[in-house]
Amino acid sequence: MPELPEVETTRRGVAPHVLDRLIVRVAVRESRLRWPVPDALAEELPGKRFTSVGRRAKYLLFDCGSGVLLVHLGMSGSLRITPENEPPGKHAHVDILFDSGKTLRYTDPRKFGSMLWHPAGLGEHPLLQGLGPEPLGDEFGGALLHGVSRGRKTAVKNLIMDSRVVAGVGNIYACEALFLAGIHPARACGRISAARYEKLAESIRLVLGEAIRAGGTSLRDFTGGDGRPGYFKHQLNVYGREGEDCVRCSSGLRELRLGQRSTVFCPSCQR
Ligand SMILES: [Zn+2]
Repeated sequence: MPELPEVETTRRGVAPHVLDRLIVRVAVRESRLRWPVPDALAEELPGKRFTSVGRRAKYLLFDCGSGVLLVHLGMSGSLRITPENEPPGKHAHVDILFDSGKTLRYTDPRKFGSMLWHPAGLGEHPLLQGLGPEPLGDEFGGALLHGVSRGRKTAVKNLIMDSRVVAGVGNIYACEALFLAGIHPARACGRISAARYEKLAESIRLVLGEAIRAGGTSLRDFTGGDGRPGYFKHQLNVYGREGEDCVRCSSGLRELRLGQRSTVFCPSCQR
């Protein structure tokens, strides 16, 4: 599933190909995504240009002045730049064609992603309202986590995966950051010190930043004629490694379920 680093890598990968290019046509071959692809896309976009490609949590925001195209990659979605006349594959649901001859193509085998239109002047899209700060932005830090967690018994892993607290920290990165910070994922969030939250916030930034950097090396894949776009194998310390040895102390890594999500940790290094 695309997580924040893949979404950010996608943003950086496609932006140079679509920014300020005239949109010629929108082709919707399959509108039944998580929510129906609105007719407004094909009506509003032709004749306009995207003046910015932003990201909020795991949403990509393509702004063309009169409104914003919101894209969420869901479970299996991807955006690629394809050359002129490349035939669409079975799961290539939406194309946005530019005067350069290139196409921004949305492909999604499981169709849990979304492409939505949000007209300008309506404020923030409802899906973006109430989101906490970006983990890589200035508002996020140990003080914020410490502040919101006082008096709460929630497991710390569920706290950092709560998008109202901080936006876009997915399961993999929550596990990895807690390992780096040496904090047990099930520890009650209200009983963690400010100093440990500083370490945790730093670790969250670190694991996300490293994954984005790793993704940068695969940016060229966004323009490839075939295959999957730039999702990348991360160097992971704990996620998906239950039963294997801890890279730090060689204890056996354990798994528990938190918020219905697989959570892998080292029982010696994480307290
Ligand atoms: Zn260990």
